Amino acid sequence: MLHDVSLLIVLGEPLCQYCSNKAAKLLHKRLHKGEEMKGLDFHAFPCYDACSAELGLRIYYLSLEFYMGRTLQNTMVNLGLQNACDEAIYQLGLDLEELEEIEEDAGLGNGGLGRLAACFLDSMATLGLAAYGYGIRYEFGIFNQKIVDGWQVEEADDWLRYGNPWEKARPEYMLPVHFYGRVEHSPEGVKWVDTQVVLAMPYDTPVPGYKNNTVNTMRLWSAKAPNDFNLQEFNVGDYIEAVLDRNLAENISRVLYPNDNFFEGKELRLKQEYFVVAATLQDIIRRFKSSKFGCQDPVRTSFETFPDKVAIQLNDTHPALSIPELMRILVDVEKVDWDKAWEITKQTCAYTNHTVLPEALERWPVSMFEKLLPRHLEIIYALNQMHLDRVAALYPGDIDRLRRMSVIEEGDCKRINMAHLCVIGSHAVNGVARIHSDIVKNTVFKDFYELEPEKFQNKTNGITPRRWLLLCNPGLADVIAEKIGEDFVTDLSQLKKLLDFIDNETFIRDVAKVKQENKLKFSAYLEEHYKVKINPSSMFDIQVKRIHEYKRQLLNCLHAITLYNRIRSDPSKSFVPRTIMIGGKAAPGYHMAKMIIKLITSIGEVVNNDPYVGDKLKVIFLENYRVSLAEKVIPAADLSQQISTAGTEASGTGNMKFMLNGALTIGTMDGANVEMAEEAGEENLFIFGMRVEEVEALDRRGYNAREYYDRIPELRQAIDQISSGFFSPRDPGCFRDVVNMLMHHDRFKVFADYEAYIKCQGQVDQLFMDPREWTRKVIRNIACSGKFSSDRTITEYAREIWGVEPSATKIPPPNMPRD
Ligand SMILES: *Cc1c(COP(=O)(O)O)cnc(C)c1O
Repeated sequence: MLHDVSLLIVLGEPLCQYCSNKAAKLLHKRLHKGEEMKGLDFHAFPCYDACSAELGLRIYYLSLEFYMGRTLQNTMVNLGLQNACDEAIYQLGLDLEELEEIEEDAGLGNGGLGRLAACFLDSMATLGLAAYGYGIRYEFGIFNQKIVDGWQVEEADDWLRYGNPWEKARPEYMLPVHFYGRVEHSPEGVKWVDTQVVLAMPYDTPVPGYKNNTVNTMRLWSAKAPNDFNLQEFNVGDYIEAVLDRNLAENISRVLYPNDNFFEGKELRLKQEYFVVAATLQDIIRRFKSSKFGCQDPVRTSFETFPDKVAIQLNDTHPALSIPELMRILVDVEKVDWDKAWEITKQTCAYTNHTVLPEALERWPVSMFEKLLPRHLEIIYALNQMHLDRVAALYPGDIDRLRRMSVIEEGDCKRINMAHLCVIGSHAVNGVARIHSDIVKNTVFKDFYELEPEKFQNKTNGITPRRWLLLCNPGLADVIAEKIGEDFVTDLSQLKKLLDFIDNETFIRDVAKVKQENKLKFSAYLEEHYKVKINPSSMFDIQVKRIHEYKRQLLNCLHAITLYNRIRSDPSKSFVPRTIMIGGKAAPGYHMAKMIIKLITSIGEVVNNDPYVGDKLKVIFLENYRVSLAEKVIPAADLSQQISTAGTEASGTGNMKFMLNGALTIGTMDGANVEMAEEAGEENLFIFGMRVEEVEALDRRGYNAREYYDRIPELRQAIDQISSGFFSPRDPGCFRDVVNMLMHHDRFKVFADYEAYIKCQGQVDQLFMDPREWTRKVIRNIACSGKFSSDRTITEYAREIWGVEPSATKIPPPNMPRD
């Protein structure tokens, strides 16, 4: 049934904005008759791939991750069909919400970076840009998280088990990708020969804009072994073995690497990175050649205009091989002059940096390239030589600068610094929030900024208001629309108009009522699915994001323990009731992150079962945090925790989702929190802790956790409880690694912000006791959250990086099928 409804919505007629009644009737008719669905052909529906018409620039967003979540409701929202479908389904005696719950999340991402790519696709379609998302169709997305005895257990995410109604295989566009082999140099040029071939099968998913008749394409590649794969070697021998070996090739698109902000130098991951790049660039060049711009000369394509017709945006360094691959195609295959090819490549590519954490930066061993991508290694060496020659000419004798700026890192294990490659091969380099872009310029890429300051830009991240307001919080969207109309959906800055209603008692009451309804709904969900009962009038204090030391879930834990100890020491004193909820996945190989989960569940065990505490305090771990759970929990939040050590969170986007959905933020001056505070006024957030400069100063002095432990009794008590087994009575030494880290090698200085955090949480309690003032601050935050629409972000990318003008106007519904 879910698939029937999905197919009907994606097929033909319902895509037109004028025929929502027709869609409902069709839906009704088909569902009643239980009619077999006809084959799905995207050519059949009128708006699909509209951007492959003869338009100017095409934008290619290359990403190893697209964290899409569910598609059914989003499609209905963007096509304006939600009410019609709701009605049609209701008349069949079904419940649309129940149906929606059956859909699997497309979890082809780890966290913020992958979700950003998904929000950008929505905004690019809504802004009418001719944009394509290109990535990998992982057979297994981010693992499902189970909690067993308080520990994380990973389960494979078999999301395609029952099929995927939103995708269409496009075997006619299948392409070969080469690996291994060797390089032949001759007077005719360079050849990469004796390679092994893997086929890339494209699967297309439509990306509809918001009520504008634009439908873009997300094209994901799946690895297929060629029919003759390994057969030569087994000609005499084992045919069965040869067929079984096809898995080796097809493993390339098997599974998403589950690391967030962490580089793991596995060969299979490098294969994935080259696989998406090689298939995508062939597709881009095929499309360029088939457009009228590419074929002024029928025998030899002119690539002069390539950068005017093609913009490639690199989502982090993961698709960085685009740079040497484009050089290889232009020089070796298309016989473009090297220097000309380099100009074209730089003009075409742009790079987004997502982190400054050293453990996250990709540095591939040269030895791996020698084997897997020998021609690319040669090209990278040649590009690096040109680059270093230029630096040497500008800074004669500055050997250390050459070492710092090289794409090749010398040492025991020679490595390729992919970020350096991206900076030299792009015309624009951007960070993802103002503070992060400044850090990029002043620290990690300081030398590069000195060399080419004009390349460096900022593009503060954003979120799509369609999924993160209309879809997930219709109640709030309605009370907003009642006051300011519906235009905010595509122009979120209009939320500013809500400031006129900040003293409007009915509006304050309505906003508070929607929040209470969302909290009740989420409480019911928790009770039904996890058998936990929470107090729906307590403060919903929420931290959901990947588990990482830099995000400091441990600081949140210390606050929870502190509250618990305060309740215990004076049970008769009145407390502002809180439900602390923490959720997020730990990378399976990240020991400390897994220990943090165990600590949270252990604290919950003790706190939630202590009769002295009652419903004043609950500590709950939200299992399997993912896009569809985010859509449920964020609208129910009172307090949003964004407490990373200043200078470590590049932007964050969770912070924006909470702000838009009427939660108040407790946070550090890090990432986009800085700009949120600037938009809403610092006094309307709960800002605490060290600023970047103070973190740096503390680093120079030397951070000594012991000082804080000795000086602050409540901190000492909490740490002593963790280390003595108070929260793990059956295994008292359980948390020794956590305590040892906090006391002796804490890179993220949890204790240094403890006092400020506890004090700030006291102010949160104070305000929560005054519901009217709390809600007025909430309204102020919502009103000032307009900047954080990904429509604004994409408009800036379009103007300042891609050189195109977006437009929110509706294109007329086309009646001609397009390519
Ligand atoms: C938005 C989002 C994230 C990113 O959250 P941050 O707090 O910015 O790290 C991660 N996971 C999911 C499922 C999300 O929706």
